[in-house]
Amino acid sequence: MKNIDQAYINGEFITLSGTETFDLINPSNHQKIGEVVLGNEIDTQKAIIAAKEAFKTFSKSTVEERIAILQNVKKAVESREKDLIETMILEYGGTRQFCTMSFQNMLSSFDSMIEVLRHFKFTRKAGNTKVEMTPVGVVGIITPWNSSNSFICSKFATAVAAGCTMVVKPSEMSAMQTQVIMECFHNAGLPKGIFNVVNGLGNVVGSEIVNSSYISKISFTGSTQTGKMIAKEAVGSMKRVTLELGGKSPNIILDDADLKQVIPQAVFGAYMNSGQACVAPTRLLVPYSKLAEVNAIAKEVIQQVRVGNPEDENTNVGPMVSEKQYERVQSYIKIGVEEGAELLSGGIGKPEGLENGNFVKATIFTNVKNEMRIAQDEIFGPVLSIIPYENEEDAIAIANDTTYGLAAYVSSSDEQRALNVASWIDAGRVCVNGFKHDPLAPFGGFKQSGIGREFGVYGLEEYLEPKSILV
Ligand code: NAD
Repeated sequence: MKNIDQAYINGEFITLSGTETFDLINPSNHQKIGEVVLGNEIDTQKAIIAAKEAFKTFSKSTVEERIAILQNVKKAVESREKDLIETMILEYGGTRQFCTMSFQNMLSSFDSMIEVLRHFKFTRKAGNTKVEMTPVGVVGIITPWNSSNSFICSKFATAVAAGCTMVVKPSEMSAMQTQVIMECFHNAGLPKGIFNVVNGLGNVVGSEIVNSSYISKISFTGSTQTGKMIAKEAVGSMKRVTLELGGKSPNIILDDADLKQVIPQAVFGAYMNSGQACVAPTRLLVPYSKLAEVNAIAKEVIQQVRVGNPEDENTNVGPMVSEKQYERVQSYIKIGVEEGAELLSGGIGKPEGLENGNFVKATIFTNVKNEMRIAQDEIFGPVLSIIPYENEEDAIAIANDTTYGLAAYVSSSDEQRALNVASWIDAGRVCVNGFKHDPLAPFGGFKQSGIGREFGVYGLEEYLEPKSILV
C-alpha cells in the first residue's frame, strides 16, 4: 500500500492541508494499492505563489541554463526507467508494450525541446522593430490519466524552454506515477519553484489554477467536455490556452491498398493503449466492394489480439483505467448493438478468466453508418467501427463528418494518391501508409479536438508572447 500525502512546492515535498483521500485501485484485479491525499485551494495557492516568485528570475534564464535543466531532468528520468514503467502498468493498467513506448516518448520530449532551443530565435526583427519572444508567465498544466507522465514531461520541457514556471495538476488516478516523476524532477536539482505539483480533483485544484489571476496560460490535455469548461473560465482573466482534446480518427483504406497488410495494422492500431488513446484510428473506412474481404481478415486478426494481464509483454489490450471507464465502454457496445451495427467480434461483458479486472472484449462492429453514436462519440476503449464507403469522395466526406479533427490515417499502394486524399482531411495530423510520430512536428486538433499546438517550434511559440521594441 502506497500512501501519497505530499505536494511538491518550491523545491520541497510538503504535507498537504487537504484531508480528503482518494483510493488507488489496480484496474487489473480491483485491489486497493494505495491512497492519495487530495490537495485543496490553499495547497494550490501555495504552489501558484511559488511559481510566481520563481518566474521573476527564471524568465530571465539563458538558453544554456534551460538546456542544462532539460539534460539533467532527462538523466534523472532515465535512471528510474523500471519504476516508471512498472508503476504505470500497476496503477493505470497500460500494457507493457505501451508503457515502454510511452517511456521512450518521455525521453524524446526532452531531446526534441533541446534541439528546438539550439536553433530558436528569441529575438527577431519585423520592419525596423526588434521583436522579443518573452515567456508568457506561470503556466497551469492539467493532464489526464492515459499517459500521465509523458504529458507532464512534454509540457514541462516546453515550459522550461520558454522560460516559464509551472503548477501541474495531474489526474488523481495517476498519483503513484506522479510520485515517481516528482522524485525524478527533485533529484535533477531544479531551480526552486519552477516546477510545482498538487494532486487533487479537477473541480478543486484544477479550478483554482484556471481561475487564478497569477496564471497566464493553461496547457490542458483531456476530454473535450472539460476543455470547453476550462476555456470558458480561462477567458475571465484572458489566459492563453492550449487544449489537446478528444478524437475519433478516421483510417481510410483506399481501394488499391494491400488489405492483408493494412487491415491487421488497422485493427491493432485501433487498440493502441487498450483503445484509450486520443489518436486511435477507431473509424476504419473501407470500400463497399471490399467489405466482405475486410471483415474476413479482421475476424482472423482479432484472434491474435491478446486481452489480458498488462504485465505480460505479449498483451495487446489491458484493462480500462477504472470501473467507470469500463461501464462507459460497455454502454457504447450496447448502443452499437441497439443502433443495428453488425457485431463482428467481442461484445458486452468481460473476456473469460478476466472477471476480476476492468477488461473489455476486443470489439469490432462492421457495416457501421457514420451517423451512429459508436461512429461519432469518442468511446475510449477497444471498440473499432468498420464503415463502408462508395468512392474516394464519399470516403473524404465520411472522414470529415465528425466534430473531431485530431488525427487521420490514409493507406494506398499509390503514395501520391494517398497524399491527395490527405490534403482534403480536416485533422491536425494525417499519417500516410502507417502510424507515425514526429516529436518535432506540431501536434493538436482541428475543430473540437482542441485549440493550439504542442511539440517543436509551434509548441514553444504557444508559451511565448511577442514583444515589439520600437526605439
Ligand atoms: P478529463 O477531461 O476528465 O480530465 C482531464 C484532467 O482535467 C484531469 O486532471 C481532471 O482532474 C481535470 N479536470 C476535470 N475537471 C476540471 C475542471 N473543472 N477544471 C480544471 N481541471 C479539471 O479527461 P480524462 O478522462 O482524464 O482523459 C481522457 C480524455 O483525454 C479523452 O477525451 C482523450 O481523448 C483526451 N486526451 C487527449 C489527448 C490529446 O493530445 N489531444 C491526449 C490524451 C488524452
